[in-house]
Amino acid sequence: MDQAESVRTPSSWVVVGLDNGGTSNNATVLDATGQFLVDHLVENPSRVLDGPESAVEALADAFTGILELTRTPRSLVRAVGLDTPGPASANGVISSKGATNFNHVSWHGFDIRGALEARLGLPVVYNNDGNAAALYAHHQHFGAAAAANSSVSAIVGTGLGGGVVEAGAVIRGAAGMAGELGHVQIPLHGVLENDQPVPRCNCGFEGDVESVASLTGIKNNLLPYWLARFPEHQLAGEPIGAAAKALRGYAEKDDPMALAVFAQQAKAIGKLFTIAANFTDPAAYFLGGGVVEAAPHFRQWFLNTVRESTDLRDEQKAVATFALVPDRDMAGSRGAAVAALNTVIVG
Ligand SMILES: [Zn+2]
Repeated sequence: MDQAESVRTPSSWVVVGLDNGGTSNNATVLDATGQFLVDHLVENPSRVLDGPESAVEALADAFTGILELTRTPRSLVRAVGLDTPGPASANGVISSKGATNFNHVSWHGFDIRGALEARLGLPVVYNNDGNAAALYAHHQHFGAAAAANSSVSAIVGTGLGGGVVEAGAVIRGAAGMAGELGHVQIPLHGVLENDQPVPRCNCGFEGDVESVASLTGIKNNLLPYWLARFPEHQLAGEPIGAAAKALRGYAEKDDPMALAVFAQQAKAIGKLFTIAANFTDPAAYFLGGGVVEAAPHFRQWFLNTVRESTDLRDEQKAVATFALVPDRDMAGSRGAAVAALNTVIVG
């Protein structure tokens, strides 16, 4: 694709969205009418391993780069949306215990939102990456009706992220930890086999959603059990981490063991959505992560299994939507930009 054709120039004031990841930043521009000015991934190295100073400079580079690409004068930028992996406070202070992506001690308790705001001289609005993706899914799906609707998103990756959106805005919580859906404990009846050990999560909980519905859950909990039941399986000789990553490819080819593992994941997400149905009764249930990139027949089967495992009342079934989160790679930067736009509009 000719990248120049997928870039527009702004006709109004804009906000910039910056998605900070372990290796790359991804940037986008959203104008006041709700149009994204870039249709593709625009990345630069995030340099988070070099510590906060380098990482904030890398974010400033991403900001400058995306303005140049879209020929947007800096004076048109009203606000910047930033998202990073958590755990962090609602205002973008990285956990005092650090985090997977922010391992160096200089990151512990670092105010990445405040630092970027000082560096750019513009208001910076912060969300964690799960909340940003949830916000983007919500706005992409509901469009102009976003503010009148609610949703819950589950994003399956290394862990299980997501977010809860009510009246078009992310529920953040008192400490910024709302929407940590991976650590909601679920009933395991109907998810696990009778002789299957109760799965454990890195957070210390047993039987939460992430302990089943994540790459880590496959590696630590599900695959060791299922490989013992399928000792002749091709993946039995592989290191467990590599086997876990390879599993989706097998599921796409209808491999029975792989489908058994992913059926357990889908059922776990269905249990989570059943809790959501009784908690906030959302209008839409979104599913995102690696599964969205899988072969269409497999991802549709996965979504259907989630839907069938979500126990809704008839009144809820009549109004609820189940859908995949679109544009997986851009969901973070786009959701961050939507959050910034909402802040400017609300004032
Ligand atoms: Zn957990």
